[in-house]
Amino acid sequence: MIMLRDQIVFDLIQKELDRQEDGLELIASENFASKQVIEAMGTVLTNKYAEGLPGKRYYGGCEVVDEIENIARDRAKELFGAEWVNVQPHSGAQANAAVMLAVLNAGDKILGFDLSHGGHLTHGSSVNFSGKLYQPSFYGVEKETGMINYDHVLEIAKKEQPKLIICGASAYSREWNYKRLRAIADEVGALLLADIAHPAGLIARGLMDDPLDFCHIVTTTTHKTLRGPRGGMIMLREDFDNPFGLKTPKGVVRKMSSLLDSGVFPGTQGGPLEHVIAAKAIAFSEALSNDYMDYILQVKRNAAVMANRFIDKGYHVISGGTDNHLMLIDLRSKGEITGRDAENVLIKADITINKNMVPFDTRSPFVASGIRLGTAAITTRGMKEAEMEKVVDLIDDVLMNKDNESKIREIKDGVNSWMKDFPLYK
Ligand SMILES: *Cc1c(COP(=O)(O)O)cnc(C)c1O
Repeated sequence: MIMLRDQIVFDLIQKELDRQEDGLELIASENFASKQVIEAMGTVLTNKYAEGLPGKRYYGGCEVVDEIENIARDRAKELFGAEWVNVQPHSGAQANAAVMLAVLNAGDKILGFDLSHGGHLTHGSSVNFSGKLYQPSFYGVEKETGMINYDHVLEIAKKEQPKLIICGASAYSREWNYKRLRAIADEVGALLLADIAHPAGLIARGLMDDPLDFCHIVTTTTHKTLRGPRGGMIMLREDFDNPFGLKTPKGVVRKMSSLLDSGVFPGTQGGPLEHVIAAKAIAFSEALSNDYMDYILQVKRNAAVMANRFIDKGYHVISGGTDNHLMLIDLRSKGEITGRDAENVLIKADITINKNMVPFDTRSPFVASGIRLGTAAITTRGMKEAEMEKVVDLIDDVLMNKDNESKIREIKDGVNSWMKDFPLYK
């Protein structure tokens, strides 16, 4: 097999590496996977078809990938204290699609956390499969506190009678009351799904409450705080009979694990990405290490320091702080600057954040009144509390001088040389 190396694409990959090395990465959903995690993804495992599960495949030659997938499953179970996992979902959205296909019928009611309050598209948004195939209703945060009022969740659940209640979010910085949510789900006869795509790493290492104690089903991504390859996963603390009584064609009540496995394949996916599953196995083992424990503790400490610094500088941090790795800032306390303005001007200084709707936002998602920031990526680079204060000061400097081109260029040069003190891959 003699082929010319595709220099066009590899040059662009190099350019992206440079961008990641030189910039200050504050997108809350991003992180930097280890070299061995990345190495595993660029292997011949991508050549292999392995539809089905280890030991029960639809293709021959799966002996080796069976071993790899079993290692990934065992490590995931150890990491989260789960009885059952499926490591095949290609992404967090795919994991949620598989769960909903497994436990719902088209037209069933679901109750999720409002997208504009920090929820995710896959929790019932009208532009997503979850809002098109099912009938969604939503709960949100209180205007005064920026936090979820569980009495209000109960009220909506009683009125709507959903078959599935979804908790978890993309831009909610606070702890979740899983015990209370389970009581609400039990009261209305709903299943409870926790989507821990964001705080998975903090939960795995005991730094946040454990949803597996109370939620029937838990989904996650593997690439956010968990710091693995881009992918998803579904977990059960304990397997149980499907409470809605769905039976196999032979009349047997199916276990939830079996329903969920078929929700992934053949329900929503074809062949699993075994090269990514190998990288997941490596990432799970990394996440079980003492080094990762130090890392994830620092992620949480850094977020608390960052949120406090923003508050000291007069920014409105939604809910007044953070219990996890991220924060949502309402820029309306700082005059006319929108989320979009902030994102656009910060990128000129090589500081990457994302614009985000804030609860009760009056602007569209394309403009938005807020920004979301997280500490998972910069903590991987080795930044600690002192650096968090500098990061906030830099952001404030950019936003307060947003029309001063030369000042922004000066800040960008400063960011680029500062980042050399926190080497990444080079
Ligand atoms: C990021 C995220 C997802 C989706 O993950 P993808 O891998 O991008 O599909 C799902 N749910 C929540 C809450 C998320 O934050």
